[in-house]
Amino acid sequence: MDALYAAIVLGSIGLVLSILIGICGKFLITQKDDIVEEIYDLLPKINCGGCGNPSCMQMAEKILQGESIENCRPCSLENKQIISKKIEEIKKKHKK
Ligand code: SF4
Repeated sequence: MDALYAAIVLGSIGLVLSILIGICGKFLITQKDDIVEEIYDLLPKINCGGCGNPSCMQMAEKILQGESIENCRPCSLENKQIISKKIEEIKKKHKK
């Protein structure tokens, strides 16, 4: 009987924790994906490979990791400034 009780308690704890981890993971991944998507929308989307990445989507991910937007020559000056501003805002948020 003790073993059954322990299994029920541990199973319940495991279920609750897995639900919490799932919810937190989805929220965090969605936030990151949204930022990458915002950066991607400002890139030329011509997948020229000039930045050393095979696609603009990969470049968007690399920019979020610290790669310079200046490596994308086809990107307009206006969009480069918007992307740089977004990255600065993200860095400021993480410093707080
Ligand atoms: S250089 Fe710019 S346009 Fe070309 S693949 Fe890289 S991000 Fe895309």
